[in-house]
Amino acid sequence: QTYEPVNEPLLDYAPGSSERKEVEEALKRYNQQVADIPIVIGDEEIRSGPELFQVSPHDHNHKVAKYRYATKEIIKKGIDSCLKARKQWERTPIEKRADIFLKAADMIAKERRMDVVATTMIGQSKNVWQAEIDAAGELIDFLRFNVAFARQMTQYQPLSPDSNITNRSVYRGLEGFWAAITPFNFTAIGGHLPAAPALMGNVSVWKPSDTAMLSNYEVFKIYREAGLPAGVINFVPADGPVFGDTVLSSPDLAGVNFTGSVKTFKYLWKQIANNIDTYKSYPRIIGECGGKNLHFVHPSADVKSVVNGTIRGAFEFNGQKCSATSRMYVPESLWPDIRDGFLNIHKEIKMGSPLEKDSFVTAVIDDKSFKRVEEYVNHAKNNPNTKIIAGGKCDNSKGYFIEPTIVETKDPKDRLMQEEIFGPVLTVYVYPDNKYVETAELANQTSPYALTAAIFVKDEGARKELVDIFRDNAGNFYINDKSTGSVVGQQPFGGTRLSGTNEKSGGPHYLMKFVSVQSVKENK
Ligand code: GLU
Repeated sequence: QTYEPVNEPLLDYAPGSSERKEVEEALKRYNQQVADIPIVIGDEEIRSGPELFQVSPHDHNHKVAKYRYATKEIIKKGIDSCLKARKQWERTPIEKRADIFLKAADMIAKERRMDVVATTMIGQSKNVWQAEIDAAGELIDFLRFNVAFARQMTQYQPLSPDSNITNRSVYRGLEGFWAAITPFNFTAIGGHLPAAPALMGNVSVWKPSDTAMLSNYEVFKIYREAGLPAGVINFVPADGPVFGDTVLSSPDLAGVNFTGSVKTFKYLWKQIANNIDTYKSYPRIIGECGGKNLHFVHPSADVKSVVNGTIRGAFEFNGQKCSATSRMYVPESLWPDIRDGFLNIHKEIKMGSPLEKDSFVTAVIDDKSFKRVEEYVNHAKNNPNTKIIAGGKCDNSKGYFIEPTIVETKDPKDRLMQEEIFGPVLTVYVYPDNKYVETAELANQTSPYALTAAIFVKDEGARKELVDIFRDNAGNFYINDKSTGSVVGQQPFGGTRLSGTNEKSGGPHYLMKFVSVQSVKENK
């Protein structure tokens, strides 16, 4: 069966439009209540243990949702529930499994769209367009495109040249269970990490981020309403280390599907290594762990597209994208124009609550993030090699607001050029025009990450040189475009080096991780 999805068209939420009214109604609905989110194991909703609260990043006084952590025992029940559901689910024909996720995609596209958009706005402080791109557009695309990719992949059958022999490939889900550990920054990633394995016949315990509880629970409910059987995905809010240690010490661990920090990812690898003698199979380990993404500007670049692309890459989503533009290399000859361009746009940028219509920058996710980003801003203020040319204010009196901040550094190896900040801070290093090759080589080696990178260049010879220099760098590489904004089915996403295992979500190869092929030879 062929199926060729197209990317979900995005709504524009123009003032007075029907979608604007609908989202405002949904916001009102969610703003009036503190959702009480259960742990869900199979069919059972559990609400025991001390209460925890998800609070709006832009408003300390606004409790969004109440939830509790699963204990070790409850997490183990989650694993049992996976294993119980697995046999039947894994033997369910792929077409039937696909129908459930296509139905979920249609529900998000239609009757549940405003729910996922509004909860992402309130809980993760995204403005309406950012929430639309994430919780509607990208999640719908993941679900639909994966079905197309799964169909393509499972169509392959090996040769059977002897008419007395049939050879075939059986596409099985993995034996055991997956742990899906998901981040706050994309509702789409939260929903995708347990859904992709499920499509291929796997079962998961899903630990959502504490700071994305509400939107992620909406997504979970939609999967269940679309017909996903109980136990295929178990929704298990939990303390990170308790969850990690419990799932990694189960002999039935099939794999970990993780998006988050390098530190946590390395911890997971080490624990899996420590436990290796206890597992029934070799756990597959998938990680997407951030970046220190660069814009490299050649003297032949088009200034306007550099300026617009960089402002968007660095400050949209408050810089809380793994792919966010975070360091920049600019030739001396272009710097005055680029800097003026930045300053002109910067003074127009509105920072505020995502519920106010024209907020471009909103609040960073929580206190920990605020302090981390503030520390980098303070470094920029206090270091003799760096100066802040725009922004720099950090104010957590009402919410976790950090002004979009542009720093210029004389030291291309400053901390600000090496470490992931995950906030609205861009650092620029200005280089002599005739040193672009050396500077690009330096840029390539400056940070241990290699998620995304962008070059801006019109000169054909220089373009080739730069493409070659960055060949081993980014998993996602852009030429004359910003470092962010990969689209499912168009730019499969993932990084190399310490950014991750580069499985390319949103592309056909991602699903291979969730399939264990059985080759069958049958004699007549
Ligand atoms: N895929 C997104 C982009 O290209 C980023 C996802 C992430 O932050 O992990 O901008």
